[in-house]
Amino acid sequence: VNDYDLVVIGAGSGGLSAAPLAAKLGARVALVERYKPGGDCLYTGCVPSKALIKAAKVAHEMRTAETFGIEAHEPVVDLRRVMAHVHEVIGRVYEYETPEALAKKGVEVILGGASFVDPHTIDVGDRQVRAKRFLIATGSRAAVPTIPGVRESGYITYDELFHLARLPEHLLIIGAGPIGVEMAQAFRRLGSRVTMFQRSRRLLGMADADCSAAIARVMESEGVVFHFGAEIGRVSRAGMTYTVESGRDIIEGDQLLVATGRVPNVEGLDLEKAGVVHGAGGIQVDSRLRTSQPHIYACGDVTGGPQFTHYAGMQGYVAVRNALLPGSSSGHMDHVPWTIFTDPEVARAGMTEEEARQRHGADVRVTIRENVHIDRAQTDEDLHGLVKIVHRSSGEILGAHIVSARAGEMIHEFVLAMEQKLKLGDIAETMHVYPTYGIGAQQAAVSWRVDSLLEGLGGRLIAAARKLAG
Ligand SMILES: Cc1cc2nc3c(=O)[nH]c(=O)nc-3n(C[C@H](O)[C@H](O)[C@H](O)COP(=O)(O)OP(=O)(O)OC[C@H]3O[C@@H](n4cnc5c(N)ncnc54)[C@H](O)[C@@H]3O)c2cc1C
Repeated sequence: VNDYDLVVIGAGSGGLSAAPLAAKLGARVALVERYKPGGDCLYTGCVPSKALIKAAKVAHEMRTAETFGIEAHEPVVDLRRVMAHVHEVIGRVYEYETPEALAKKGVEVILGGASFVDPHTIDVGDRQVRAKRFLIATGSRAAVPTIPGVRESGYITYDELFHLARLPEHLLIIGAGPIGVEMAQAFRRLGSRVTMFQRSRRLLGMADADCSAAIARVMESEGVVFHFGAEIGRVSRAGMTYTVESGRDIIEGDQLLVATGRVPNVEGLDLEKAGVVHGAGGIQVDSRLRTSQPHIYACGDVTGGPQFTHYAGMQGYVAVRNALLPGSSSGHMDHVPWTIFTDPEVARAGMTEEEARQRHGADVRVTIRENVHIDRAQTDEDLHGLVKIVHRSSGEILGAHIVSARAGEMIHEFVLAMEQKLKLGDIAETMHVYPTYGIGAQQAAVSWRVDSLLEGLGGRLIAAARKLAG
């Protein structure tokens, strides 16, 4: 006899979307979690990083207040107090995800690590739980780098970062992906010297090249030092001094943050006993999010796809929908929108210019509006960004790339447009509020509209009409 219709393993972004929906649909559902509900996002990811970024912005604004005619002050930063604030925010968000709060939504939380006994049974502590279906949402963890000396030296990852009690004097960061870049700017603004190391030549390899160059300029102007395009030869440590040998340079610091990616959490689940196929890239799922066992689904970071809370959440919903309702929906997306929460933010939806040219050849246009031409960016002194729209001559939108204080909010207009097959002309014709950052998107669309009108038959007719009018 099955105890539950659905058991969700892992109460992070994916599991916390999935389990309450399953309960709403009338299923008997249990959510198994080895720590506390919340997952990476709440304890070591999105929430603490964004709270820290906000604190760093406050410090930055104190330091740069003179720009606005206000006397500037060098902030006194006690990292212990800043982290106490970060953990207070975590506590507030957790209140909505406690086992008691979840029970009110019809979800039974079982605390303990889950491992499969057979395809329909898991062990959780000293208890065995049987279910008709399972959803595995166990997330990912920091990857261990293979750089010589790094393991022996000891280092921190995002797991320890939000527990630091002392502001590093000089923070060395290996990896210039989202976590490395966000934390580099935050710690620089809090008062650390920061040096970043990256094998490739630019930061945020997943971003459009113009956007990554724009944010790199801002970070450099704030004093972040980049050592890019060089292999790290060795890392060593003597007392509290870490040494990174990068190309010909030898750089010393008093803290080492490694941010070189994350790997799926499959260990300990005994997936072999359930007959679930998995590899280094995580648990393999089909478009319905079914594993090699049709009654066992997986979602989020553990499937090795894009590692975002909103993606894990969407997949959690889709997995439940497919597991409990007739028919099916796809749990995969070609282009997942994202934002990196630097200041200004960097956001992307759809294809980069390079990808679009590979797919569509010559019929690719790029329309750019720089922040200096967006009045709100002028009033806010946010002048280093841009809105870059990649599209076809028909106005079909292929991608949008934004660097702006509000990029994370602005990108949704483009996500909606692409999902609903709206064109650049539709954005041009939609009234936007002045003075917002969002109106920059409309202004870009209007400028393309006018240019393409003038280039085509419309332009020739206008020229002829003007001639006739004398
Ligand atoms: C520093 C940092 C910043 C980030 N910032 C952002 C951001 O701004 N925006 C964004 O979209 N994403 C961000 N992310 C990524 C985001 O946190 C993850 O993509 C998201 O949490 C993945 O959700 P998930 O459900 O797959 O896994 P998780 O949320 O990690 O949940 C997995 C859960 O499973 C539990 N678990 C694991 N194994 C077992 C087991 N055997 N039994 C029981 N329980 C188990 C874990 O304890 C955990 O609670 C960030 C990540 C980091 C590290």
